Amino acid sequence: MPITPDAPLTECSGVGEERAKKLAKLGLERVSSLLFHYPRDYEDRRQVYTARDAPLGQRVCISATAAEHPRRARIRKGLELVQVKVVDNTGALHLTFFNQGYVDRAIRAGEEYVFYGTVEEQGRRRTMANPIFERVGQGTVTGRIMPVYPLTAGISNHLMASLTRQALPCAAGLPETLPQQIRQGHSLAALEFSIKNIHFPEDEEALSLARRRLTFEELFYLSVGLTRLKSRRAGEEGVPLPSRPMEEFLALLPFAPTGAQRRVMEEVARDLSAPRPMNRLIQGDVGSGKTAVAAFAGWLCAKSGGQAALMAPTEVLAEQHYRSLSALLAPAGVRVGLLTGSLGAAEKKRVRKALAEGEIDFVAGTHALISDGVEFHRLSLMVADEQHRFGVAQRAALAAKGATPGTPPQAGLAAKGGASAAPHVLVMSATPIPRTLALIIYGDLDVSVIDQLPPGRTPVETYVVGEDKRARMYGFVRKQVEAGRQVYIICPAVEDGAGLDGPEGDSPAMDLKAVKSYAENLQINVFPDLRLGILHGKMKPKEKEAAMAAFAKGEIQVLVATTVVEVGVDVPNASLIVIENADRFGLSQLHQLRGRVGRGKHQSYCVLITATRNPDSMARLRTLASTTDGFKISEEDLKLRGPGDFFGSRQHGLPQLKLADLAGDMRLLSEAQEAARELLEDDPDLSKAENRPVLQRVRRLFADTPDIFN
Ligand code: ADP
Ligand code: MG
Repeated sequence: MPITPDAPLTECSGVGEERAKKLAKLGLERVSSLLFHYPRDYEDRRQVYTARDAPLGQRVCISATAAEHPRRARIRKGLELVQVKVVDNTGALHLTFFNQGYVDRAIRAGEEYVFYGTVEEQGRRRTMANPIFERVGQGTVTGRIMPVYPLTAGISNHLMASLTRQALPCAAGLPETLPQQIRQGHSLAALEFSIKNIHFPEDEEALSLARRRLTFEELFYLSVGLTRLKSRRAGEEGVPLPSRPMEEFLALLPFAPTGAQRRVMEEVARDLSAPRPMNRLIQGDVGSGKTAVAAFAGWLCAKSGGQAALMAPTEVLAEQHYRSLSALLAPAGVRVGLLTGSLGAAEKKRVRKALAEGEIDFVAGTHALISDGVEFHRLSLMVADEQHRFGVAQRAALAAKGATPGTPPQAGLAAKGGASAAPHVLVMSATPIPRTLALIIYGDLDVSVIDQLPPGRTPVETYVVGEDKRARMYGFVRKQVEAGRQVYIICPAVEDGAGLDGPEGDSPAMDLKAVKSYAENLQINVFPDLRLGILHGKMKPKEKEAAMAAFAKGEIQVLVATTVVEVGVDVPNASLIVIENADRFGLSQLHQLRGRVGRGKHQSYCVLITATRNPDSMARLRTLASTTDGFKISEEDLKLRGPGDFFGSRQHGLPQLKLADLAGDMRLLSEAQEAARELLEDDPDLSKAENRPVLQRVRRLFADTPDIFN
């Protein structure tokens, strides 16, 4: 009886209850799901070698005839051998099978087989252990391109391939999901062909056609989903804020805005006065002055009787924002507040109450701002700073905050801003993301770019140095301090033998410079006369705050820290940053760290210390030394390390892509986006019958982030 797509996997031969449970871990439950469990790689088993010419040490196919009946030998309890000699007209190969008793029945003297395994030489004998084999001409596991699957414990690749082969006939019955017009317009192979060839490709060309179609499809559904998300938010009712002369705000600033800041403020002002909620990303390199734009948006909002919130990824940063917003906006009558996880219970309660009653106009904070129980009187703007730490799902959670029922509109606000109005959302990122990638990660946002630094900045001079220059580096630190400047020294770890600080943090690494012992040693042996401080992620929030405040005031001259200072910290008097074990950091991260200096009027320096001899690592560090253009650096990072740094660890909250490689498939991505746009223009709600399958697939793709689609 033929196997049906909906049948449970226990219907396949080779699968009992136990294995079915293991397969479920891979998300495989029905026969049809096997078809969409794509290989992660392929083995080319097409070339068949002779026993004498087969290369050693790599897996190859050899076609040969069994010269004898297999011999069984029991070495000891639990170890059984089957040995057999096979020959072709160039020589002999001695095969050994461990604990595979069935082999003595499966191989018959005088018959020809293809064996797939690694040839080794023992003296003058050529041998192969545990080869995969089948009768010549069968061509199911040898003599062709074979899939290599993502696996789980107890499930072998051999089993996966066999199951997929059993499921393959079901591909014929799969309904085509891509509209005919799109398939033709983009020269995409049919679904059945693609499924068959992604698993068991006839040849390279068939594989590439299959991959193209299925990758396109994946990117297409992603694009459809994101576009729908964007247009759905655009259809929501927002809180249009009455416009005000920008000069009123600019008069509060201690500096004149750059042209780029002014342009972005205008874009933001336009968004805020529209009846639909703003959804805007501001990308600007470190030090480009994004905070002023956020302050402007919050000011505008507060002046219309609404509330604004600014969410930062760390407490240090939230507190810094709180200080600078207070200094800037309090004179204009804006009531600024702070809400972080580490506030005392009473203080937290007080701030929450003030937020609920509308007695705070602009609040800075951490994730605590979106935790349950925080209610706003009238939230009309959410700003997320350093947005690469926040994903689509978190943005959705932010936006949902505005939808608190029962908050009456206030005087000064347009009457339309009723109970269900969604707040404006502004996200700010200092990680310049290559445009192509931004299209995906921020597919649901409009983008503004601050592409200009405030005047008078001289680019940070960057040097890559080895251990032999350590003494000189210390001399340089002293010189800076004596000139009245301050210095950061960044170490990758907190304690000796501990892992990296921060979220990436658990890989043990004994040779990493660690903040505590490093600072101790520095104080005792190198700078007994200087004021040193430390800052790392394992300190209590109060201690961190105290250290940061002391550094900001100039009380600490040299701050030894982990990457917790990476994001946004602003001390204009700091003119030197030394980064230990620099090769351990990603380029974009190093660029962020470097952005901690060069924020004032002093010539600033970045010294990257490394003991690495790895030419790739050195090349990366030299890239950083040769440019201060964040976009160029992130393109380079993308090329060298792949999109993992931007796209990894699922922080973005987007569905996982099975096939698409975001660094390599950019062309296809823009094709898919174009197709998605055209389709949605024609059928915005995907309500036409022929587009039903697309809607279903998009829903399934976004199943992990349901808040996006429900
Ligand atoms: P980022 O974009 O990295 O968040 P900030 O907003 O922290 O940058 O600004 C970096 C520094 O530059 C701050 O000290 C800020 O006061 C200053 N700054 C911002 N805009 C200007 C400007 N137009 N002219 C002079 N200094 C500015
Ligand atoms: Mg910032």
